Amino acid sequence: MTINRKHFKTRFERLPAWVCSACQTGTLQMVHDTLNILETGPSKTAHSLDGWDVEWIEERFCALLKCSDCSDLASISGSREHDLHQYMDMLGEFASDITNSLKPHSIQPPPLVFPIPNKAPDNLKEALLRVRTH
Ligand SMILES: [Zn+2]
Repeated sequence: MTINRKHFKTRFERLPAWVCSACQTGTLQMVHDTLNILETGPSKTAHSLDGWDVEWIEERFCALLKCSDCSDLASISGSREHDLHQYMDMLGEFASDITNSLKPHSIQPPPLVFPIPNKAPDNLKEALLRVRTH
């Protein structure tokens, strides 16, 4: 019983393939065209402030995830963050890149944190899967 720690970071440039809690075999993939990202009003207002920086942008997102095996659906929501990376390129010129990452705040029903062993007692399996309904 191992936990894939890469699946439970706080931020993702690309969402991981979380294990579906309904069938416990498929993985959750984002449903095409369901990702919505909007910038908050206070964030838009802040663009006019002196010293405004791209890292100040506050955005919220929501989307649907679909299991690759049983087609169960999960909703995901959270915030999107921007990081500015400044560096000298190969020609010695100043350069910068912006990376975006999603910071999930909720996934309902949640993915499994670890696979449930087949030999686990039924009451333990039920308790672990109860997260789907609470
Ligand atoms: Zn599934």
